[in-house]
This record gives sequence, structure tokens and C-alpha cells, in this order.
Amino acid sequence: MQEIEFRSGHLCVDTDPALCVPCQERLDRQLALLPRVYGELEAALVPAPNSGDRVTGTARPGIPLNGPAVEARAAIRGTLASWADLIVEGRTVRLPLRTVPALAAFLRRHLSWLAVHPAAEDAASEIDALLHDVLRIARPPHGHPLPIGA
Ligand SMILES: [Zn+2]
Repeated sequence: MQEIEFRSGHLCVDTDPALCVPCQERLDRQLALLPRVYGELEAALVPAPNSGDRVTGTARPGIPLNGPAVEARAAIRGTLASWADLIVEGRTVRLPLRTVPALAAFLRRHLSWLAVHPAAEDAASEIDALLHDVLRIARPPHGHPLPIGA
């Protein structure tokens, strides 16, 4: 379940700006996972029981929001939206809804086009790094698991 490969050490980028098939497949799996992580981060938006006075939220006064979770969600949405914009400009297709599930599905649908775009490597690296970062917040390896589905 937690089998997520990251790009460290992959060599196709040395030979060709296009993504090789394993890299495309990995990117596809990562795009499929991001909306789920986005949902898990929503569960982290409720104040943690012992979060004390480290209130970083700027949104609703009096409600301590989980700052890293808010930032992680914004990063997911912003990253997916910016790559979707590239596809919209390049392919003159309709803009998807600006929701994370719609953006991720859109990117997966156009993955074979993106994979041969000159920016394919940037997209793969950025989404790889993004997933790595947001998983650390949504599913911390040590410490308290988030109240998913609670
Ligand atoms: Zn590759």
C-alpha cells in the first residue's frame, strides 16, 4: 500500500528529455495518489489535541489550523494547476475544473503528451518532490498518525 517509488537515481533523464515508460508509469501512480493525500490532509486541518499555542493559521481566527497541512494542500493544488495550464496552452484543450481530483485526472489523461514535452523532466521532478513532501506531512513516519476517517 505504501509502495511509492521516487525518482532518485533514475537515469533516463541523462539521455533524453522525454520520460521513459517506467517514469511515466510512476508519474501516473503519483498523480493518482495525490488526490488521496490531499483528502488525508483535510483531516489534518482540525486542530491537533496537543498542538498547544503554535497557531499558524491565518484563516479563521480562534481556530488553530495545521499550518503545514494548509501549505501542503496549497502546494498540491498549485503544482497540479500549473502543469495543467501548460497542457491547456500547448494542446488547446478545455481547462479542467480547478479541483485537485479534476486536475490530477486531467494530467493523467494527457500524460503521454506531457511525457515528450521539453518540460517533462521538470514536471516529473516537481511532482515527485511534491508527493515526497506532502506524504511526510500527511503520513509522518514517526509521531502521531493523523485521525484519518475519524
Ligand atoms: Zn525514466
